[in-house]
Amino acid sequence: MSSWNDNLSQKVERISLAQPASGGFWENVAIIRPVAWVIAALGFIGMEAMLFFLAFPSDAHSRNHMQLGVKIFLSVIGPLFAAVLCLFPGYVYADAKRRGMRAGMWTLLAIFVPYLIGVILYFLLREPLPTACPKCGFLARRRFAFCPQCSTPLNRVCATCSRSLEPGWSACAYCGTPVAGPVAAVSR
Ligand SMILES: [Zn+2]
Ligand SMILES: [Zn+2]
Repeated sequence: MSSWNDNLSQKVERISLAQPASGGFWENVAIIRPVAWVIAALGFIGMEAMLFFLAFPSDAHSRNHMQLGVKIFLSVIGPLFAAVLCLFPGYVYADAKRRGMRAGMWTLLAIFVPYLIGVILYFLLREPLPTACPKCGFLARRRFAFCPQCSTPLNRVCATCSRSLEPGWSACAYCGTPVAGPVAAVSR
């Protein structure tokens, strides 16, 4: 039993080493779907047009006398800000999809809850990234005890109720059975 457990915790450690937590910034940007980029581009152009018509003086003379910083802000930074705002729901959708969460619901929250509160809630509540099964490569959620495709053990389970044990537990949280030996930490 204990050698089986040791073997398994080594396996769990190997999985966590093979899977970096959630990738770098550009890897995360790369998951955003093309349609979200198109919407962001439209947001950029829309904001550009709005600022041009509303904020720039209509006659050429006073336009020439505007400060360069104000011009740059109105023609580049403002529209860029609008584009980034449009990209947030696109990222939430793609990220929720790959984490096996309810992507549609989270995208709507990201769009309609004001002051980016939907986006912030998403980042606080999102599930950890799934890990690849070492045997068949199936992307299984971190909490899964066994691979749903090939039944390879992915986490240590309770000897009594067979549910997944989480790192740091000394007893099963579901049935109270004491855990023999430390539960391997799965890096996030
Ligand atoms: Zn598998
Ligand atoms: Zn249990």
